[in-house]
Amino acid sequence: MNSQIADLGAVVRGAPRVCPACGNYAGVMVFDNRMVECAGYDFSSPVLRCASCDCAYAGRALLPKDLHRYYSVLSKYDTVRSREDISALDRERAALATDFLAPILHDLGSVLDVGCSSGVLLHALRAAGVRHVQGIDPAADASVAARALFDIPVAQAQAENYDDYGSHDLVCVMAVLEHLLEPCALLDVIGRQLKPGARVLIEIPDAGAFDRPGDDRPIEPFGEFSNEHINFLSIGDLSRMASSAGLEVERWRTLRIAYGAPDLFVLLHKAPKGSQLPAADSVSMQSRLRSGDAVARYVTRSLTALSAVEQRLQAVPAVPLLIYGAGNHTARLMAQSAVLGSAKVLAVFDRNPHLHGQSIGGVQILPPEQIREFVGVPVIISTFNARREIHAGLSAIAQQPRILLYD
Ligand SMILES: [Zn+2]
Repeated sequence: MNSQIADLGAVVRGAPRVCPACGNYAGVMVFDNRMVECAGYDFSSPVLRCASCDCAYAGRALLPKDLHRYYSVLSKYDTVRSREDISALDRERAALATDFLAPILHDLGSVLDVGCSSGVLLHALRAAGVRHVQGIDPAADASVAARALFDIPVAQAQAENYDDYGSHDLVCVMAVLEHLLEPCALLDVIGRQLKPGARVLIEIPDAGAFDRPGDDRPIEPFGEFSNEHINFLSIGDLSRMASSAGLEVERWRTLRIAYGAPDLFVLLHKAPKGSQLPAADSVSMQSRLRSGDAVARYVTRSLTALSAVEQRLQAVPAVPLLIYGAGNHTARLMAQSAVLGSAKVLAVFDRNPHLHGQSIGGVQILPPEQIREFVGVPVIISTFNARREIHAGLSAIAQQPRILLYD
């Protein structure tokens, strides 16, 4: 596996792209999301607002062949071997989706989940009374995992080429659209095949609520601009995209998932073009129609959060350092923090075995156990969501000073 990555040679970078909602070429930059390269991939991209429709999106993205190689070689999502391996976030999403679908569950004879991974959503829907559940996923191990864990049939297929959407009462597209170079193409394919009366469930991070109006809790600066997310869509963007595919919004809500991130759930059905967007469910949190507006506010809020991180880093003695975490947070901080950019970092530690022996920003990535070889060297805990667990967990492995960047 590691030799495959070494053979890549030059760093793999993204290519420019157009607005995913309307195809317009002109975008206005709201943030330059620079990152250092990790394991040969550079996910740096400007975050743009479409000059025509105000949809927010990553202005550069990896080409499909590069992204495919990234997912197949380096992804942390291929490690589900038992029910305990399913992340708390995936369980929470499945529960929230089931709750959102409650009013129509009795109508659903057959459900297809697109990009179903290990089948946790389909398992939840079957437990809620749906008789026939089926998944498709491009990853070969998804079908093995879903069969072994939940006895759910999964076909290995690319969503854009699948030709049997018409056999189901509900097609679920959860945590998919934010990743696609051409999300409208998938909606078109589904919209064309969907049988009368059938529905589509969409779930995406809600870019219309990235700025979290009314929620003052701390945020991870720019944490929504992760490697793998390239479309920052609001209900307004999604409604327009769905309309072009002959689908209309039946119901929608925005909820906070773990750590406060806003998540958008949308139910679509076939309808003539030009229909009105209904008001959000009564349980929905506040969300803006224009993602460009919300994302610009989110960038302002993130810059404030980043300067607080920078102050903490300035308080660290100017000695060699270690970093825990080789993800987006570190890749962004190494590129954007003046303090970290000029610090001497001896090593970066991460649990993902695919990363061991690779480098991030030119610094070697090692397994966490090797921290104890660096006696007395301070460790910066470079993650927001898992900071407390890692802070506690590290004390069991090693004795060096641990530096938290957030409360
Ligand atoms: Zn646009």
